[in-house]
Amino acid sequence: MIKAFVAGHPIAHSRSPLIHGHWLAEHGISGSYERIDVPPADFPAFLRGLPGSGFAGGNVTIPHKEAAFALADTLTERAQRIGAVNTLVVGGDGRVHGDNTDAPGFCAHLDQSLGTAWPQRGEAVILGAGGAARAIVVGLAERGVSRIRVANRTPARAEAVAALAPGIAQPLAWDDLPAALEGAGLLVNTTSLGMKGQPPLAIDLAPLPDGAAVADIVYTPLETDLLAAARRRGLAAVDGLGMLLHQAVPGFAAWFGTCPQVTAALRDLIVADLRP
Ligand code: NAP
Repeated sequence: MIKAFVAGHPIAHSRSPLIHGHWLAEHGISGSYERIDVPPADFPAFLRGLPGSGFAGGNVTIPHKEAAFALADTLTERAQRIGAVNTLVVGGDGRVHGDNTDAPGFCAHLDQSLGTAWPQRGEAVILGAGGAARAIVVGLAERGVSRIRVANRTPARAEAVAALAPGIAQPLAWDDLPAALEGAGLLVNTTSLGMKGQPPLAIDLAPLPDGAAVADIVYTPLETDLLAAARRRGLAAVDGLGMLLHQAVPGFAAWFGTCPQVTAALRDLIVADLRP
């Protein structure tokens, strides 16, 4: 029986066991995927103990993504650029390999929602400069988006994120957002604003061109005020759940040896679980 895990602190809220459990059942694989609550002080010993533990690997989530980056024996080029790891694979050589699947997960969801030509829609404006923004800026640059602008409450963090894609990404002052939106083909909210329990994201979508798309990576609620405003304006709106589902695909394939699909049935399962 192949075993995998998601490690975080806290971890009770994680939907990853539902996602991987669905795929294990769908493919008739004898395996398990369990939640493990690992306090930060215990994470180095947890990761070091993975070879020989019976785990093929697992996901790491808040607050361990940077520690996993620092501790993994090898890193994919993408994980190196992003500076964070969300997927660990224990190799046959006893080494722990680190990857970041948030970037391809976000892009795969755009592919499924908007069609694969979305990078040609024009400039992207990213709101926020946290861990998720780092992955998304790297992902958009990899997919050939010509210009990316990053606006954040703390300008220094926007500068640091923009530096991940030199020549493509630039920091943007929050006050300059209206002018930047006039030329944008894609707007992405990566801040926690608009999430249940957080302040609302106050932004006027009027300047966006008619062909623009708006993506929100917040998925509680699934229909954020930002997405509702985009739909009212007749713009394409992409919710945050797809990123969560698609980022899980490479890990499952590596641990269990089968590449799963993000289907409507999987999405319905998680949507039902997200209902208050
Ligand atoms: P993070 O590293 O903590 O970054 C949070 C971002 O939100 C920062 O840019 C921060 O700005 C901004 N922010 C927070 N409160 C703010 C406020 N009151 N006003 C203005 N800006 C504020 O978090 P993260 O890991 O990037 O995650 C961000 C969001 O994405 C969370 O809601 C998370 O649940 C969601 N997420 C979704 C997925 C998915 O699969 N859909 C994956 C990862 C994350 P400062 O830099 O100024 O603090």
